[in-house]
Amino acid sequence: QAEAQKFVDEVLLAQPRGFCAGVDRAIEIVERALEKFGRPIYVRHEIVHNTFVVNDLKSKGAIFIEDLADVPPGATLVFSAHGVSKAVREEAAQRGFSVFDATCPLVTKVHVEVSKLAREGYEFIMIGHKGHPEVEGTMGQLREGIYLVEEVADVANVHPNDPTKLAVVTQTTLSVDDAAEILEAVKLRFPQVREPKKQDICYATQNRQDAVKFMAPKVDIVIVVGSPTSSNSNRLRELAERLGTPAYMVDGAQDLQPAWFDGRARVGLTAGASAPDVLVQAVIDRLKQLGAVSVRNIDGVKETVEFPLPMGLGDRSMAEL
Ligand code: SF4
Repeated sequence: QAEAQKFVDEVLLAQPRGFCAGVDRAIEIVERALEKFGRPIYVRHEIVHNTFVVNDLKSKGAIFIEDLADVPPGATLVFSAHGVSKAVREEAAQRGFSVFDATCPLVTKVHVEVSKLAREGYEFIMIGHKGHPEVEGTMGQLREGIYLVEEVADVANVHPNDPTKLAVVTQTTLSVDDAAEILEAVKLRFPQVREPKKQDICYATQNRQDAVKFMAPKVDIVIVVGSPTSSNSNRLRELAERLGTPAYMVDGAQDLQPAWFDGRARVGLTAGASAPDVLVQAVIDRLKQLGAVSVRNIDGVKETVEFPLPMGLGDRSMAEL
């Protein structure tokens, strides 16, 4: 009986893991909008890419939609943390919705940079994953002149009007190592390309990947708590595996399979930036059932980043911080 076997001995927790400041803020925007205006609150796209979070907000009265045509006139609408294109923003204004923007300020920073440099005549290479809403939002800041590069081979297919007026931007949740490799290829082909002053990959993505790099060699298996749609969670799982440690991503404790831990006594546990701590705690409880006797935090960066809420939803009082 696999269930009865005791596989796991020790659990190491990556630091940092789980919620980032942008996710925390985005969820709070929906919750405050529900409190202040009552249900329903419409949310364009999953507020953050996490099944548990989305279901929880649905139960509280949020309605998730992809198409603004599905939002009734006069409704309150929240844009997800991933950001939106100019076209979506304009359509929401035309339809007269009362909008709260939960776009992460670090994504907005990339949008602002794109708009500013476009006014100076720049075209762009965007390094990112096709179809991801953040990529659609950032590319959608411009009507034209922004080319998506997903891998090194794509760089050869970029033909800017003027290679001396070319800038590069990236999705915030990429693999740091992959993005660096692609950027090298971009610089080789376009030596004058303009790079962001500070990389667009966000602090949370960087810190969670650094933590997995530190943890993976110390354990026999890595578990990442995250939903399949979560870009940064997928990157954490891939990274552990690249470092030679078998790694699995789970949406919650229910996905853990005892057989994974056969002969793997030391488990490294982390969570993507959109995965709530309650799910991590449930995974820890399940690992204890599978035999874990020791659960401890690994040293790592302590994050203190916080973003203010948009106007009209109340301030976070100091007592809440
Ligand atoms: Fe913002 Fe980074 Fe969190 Fe995305 S992962 S919401 S960019 S802080």
